[in-house]
Amino acid sequence: MTMSRRAFVLDLGKGTLAVAVLGIGVMACSEDDPVSPTSTPSTSPESTAPPTTTPATTSPPTTNPVTTSPLAVEAVQWERVNLGFVSAYVLARNGEAAIVDTGVSGSEGDIASSLAAVGLGWGDVGHVIVTHLHADHQGSLPAVMNAAGGATAYAGAADIPEISSPRPITPVGDGDMVFDLEIIDTPGHTPGHISVLDPAGGLLVAGDALNGADGGVIGANPEYTADIVMADQSVQKLATFTFETVVFGHGEPVVDLASQQVAELAASI
Ligand SMILES: [Zn+2]
Repeated sequence: MTMSRRAFVLDLGKGTLAVAVLGIGVMACSEDDPVSPTSTPSTSPESTAPPTTTPATTSPPTTNPVTTSPLAVEAVQWERVNLGFVSAYVLARNGEAAIVDTGVSGSEGDIASSLAAVGLGWGDVGHVIVTHLHADHQGSLPAVMNAAGGATAYAGAADIPEISSPRPITPVGDGDMVFDLEIIDTPGHTPGHISVLDPAGGLLVAGDALNGADGGVIGANPEYTADIVMADQSVQKLATFTFETVVFGHGEPVVDLASQQVAELAASI
């Protein structure tokens, strides 16, 4: 759904200012778009497209304000479910939520509290993403999936056989988008470890591919990591992305210039 909408918007080309709002496909076109004059020459063939080929006539233009982003995806609002030893996360956007990791068994009450903190409940949870197979990240998945009856579960393919869920888990990896979140394969800590990036909000949920320590970022914990060489390669990979904030399974979130810190870490290993 998301990918097709994105592809649709991109297919329109830069000459047409297209805005998809909350997935309802509202579009607005303008031949004298002031937002991108340098990239939209007036001679562009796209700019001559007749307006009758778009659904813009179904809504008065005044009710569809043009934004500067062709994707029009809002940043997620994130809420940490601080379980002490480990953290899970609630990512909310447009009245819907994704949960990333579920804590140890018995954490569903704390997760419900974090959902309530952003004004949502189990019925609003469409997605539950498990970063990896360790019990402190997947322990409450059965309870969470039972409470969130409409949710789909996702994890890295290599870890799925070790994760318990009352419904099938959808394998995801590089290139997949879930709830406008980009899935990044970050193997090493476990073979199927994944991280989750919100490009719109500049937020990385790193699971145990990274850890927070002393206000900064360190790599995977060697004591609990299956393949530390591969885990270090995943740190190098994460350093190629840009994000302001990074949150972890273990340790305090870093909320400023986070990708710079990851890049410095990557350069040091
Ligand atoms: Zn772990």
